[in-house]
Amino acid sequence: MEYRKNDVVTIQINDIGNDGEGIGKIDGYTLFVKDAVIGDFVEAKITKVKKNYGYARVERVITPSSFRVEPRCAYHRQCGGCQIQAMDYERQLLFKEQKIRNNLIRIGGFEAALLDEIMEPIVGMENPWHYRNKAQFPVGYDKKENLITGFYAGRTHDIIPNTDCLLGAAENKQILEAVLSYMRENGVLAYREQTGKGLVRHILIRTGFASGEVMVCLVINGRKLPAEEELVKRLMGISLTGIGAVSLNETDRLRGDAGEKAEAENVAQKRIVSISVSVNTERTNVIMGKEIRVLWGRGYIEDSIRVLGAAEESRIKFHISPLSFYQVNPLQTEKLYSLALAYAGLTGRETVWDLYCGIGTISLFLAKYAKKVYGVEIIPQAIEDARENARINGINNAEFYVGKAEEVLPEKYEKEAVRADVIVVDPPRKGCDDRCLETMLAMKPKRIVYVSCDSATLARDLRVLVDGGYEVKKVRGVDQFGGTVHVEVVIMMQYCGKKKN
Ligand code: SAH
Repeated sequence: MEYRKNDVVTIQINDIGNDGEGIGKIDGYTLFVKDAVIGDFVEAKITKVKKNYGYARVERVITPSSFRVEPRCAYHRQCGGCQIQAMDYERQLLFKEQKIRNNLIRIGGFEAALLDEIMEPIVGMENPWHYRNKAQFPVGYDKKENLITGFYAGRTHDIIPNTDCLLGAAENKQILEAVLSYMRENGVLAYREQTGKGLVRHILIRTGFASGEVMVCLVINGRKLPAEEELVKRLMGISLTGIGAVSLNETDRLRGDAGEKAEAENVAQKRIVSISVSVNTERTNVIMGKEIRVLWGRGYIEDSIRVLGAAEESRIKFHISPLSFYQVNPLQTEKLYSLALAYAGLTGRETVWDLYCGIGTISLFLAKYAKKVYGVEIIPQAIEDARENARINGINNAEFYVGKAEEVLPEKYEKEAVRADVIVVDPPRKGCDDRCLETMLAMKPKRIVYVSCDSATLARDLRVLVDGGYEVKKVRGVDQFGGTVHVEVVIMMQYCGKKKN
């Protein structure tokens, strides 16, 4: 039977694709069905046909899967940010765990039996909502020319008016509404991409979950906002409902239903400490402009994270400016980096290299437990932040280099014969460069800890390291992004000297 675009079919969904879509077969023909949940029986409309497979989207759920839940966000299908919000959170975690496992088997060539032995259960979130500490909201107009802010609808620049994204901090809504009302009352126009006219482009909000400190930054197509003092007055006039700081007991930190409890135990009252504008007069998709002007308060917020189980005083502080990179899910980041630290197995005598170190989050975590840490990162501003963060924490055994990991490491190794007991890498999605992997092999650290946001490139890189004499000892997923298909993985490898090939 031939299928055509716009055909409506009924189909049983029995698998999940990498982007969270449901997968099923009709008469042997595979369909990838957007918004279908594994276990659903649905009516779907075909959107694209290829020879051996096609794409469709759900028109109607006939028999819902036992894993299907009512999506909490009314916009979730349009927005596309949460691809698997309609899937029960426990099932999301299983999906992520299987994705890691499948990639290690399929791409890395690892044995299923080995993974059964070494893979530890994925670390989930206590509360997979309101976990993001940063959001950038585009400002514009709807069809009736009403001023709105919200999110871009998936793959477009149409704004869905929604000030209450359930992944973001709870107080964003109050802040966004205050900014919109300031704009309306003072005749401040939103930027229009089509003409390049208008003033306010985006509203950036960042929240320190531990400190309770909140930053509001308006990205503007100009140098100055009219009636700036009105904006400040309005923002300072709100009493934020959100609360920050989570200090859970260790036992609550693993998955479970401690979400409510976490909220009850939260302590720091949220408060705005920084209001600024970012000047961006370019006609570009890049959100932030390079120049930041503080209108009120400080130019940064402070936040802190700590090693799980370590004393409260051992928190590592970070100064976060509108332009700094900082992990967007701070609670899970604590778990991720505590795991990386545990896998590094430090005794205080080690020399550690932290490649792709960003603002030094992992480096500073490790520094307290190592003799010396060297961080390498390509973005100069991030390294400035890393050095400043080391300074404010009184950490003086961490040194940072600007450059590509695949250039800095070989150069230091070849010219200065630097050594490493442990190497930690946390590369972007494309994984490590070959030259970086080769140098790691030449340096023969006792252990390698690989933190990855893409298990496919992780699997590819692990194969190179295993063929060069390492053994994978531990694998563990950490969910940083509930509702989405993304997952982080941490692995630990040990040198065993047995070269394959
Ligand atoms: N561990 C860091 C962030 C890791 S994200 C933290 O927690 O803050 C990956 C980082 O790698 C980014 O900061 C990116 O700028 C950097 N990067 C990308 N390519 C790189 C390269 N070739 N060499 C060094 N760093 C690189």
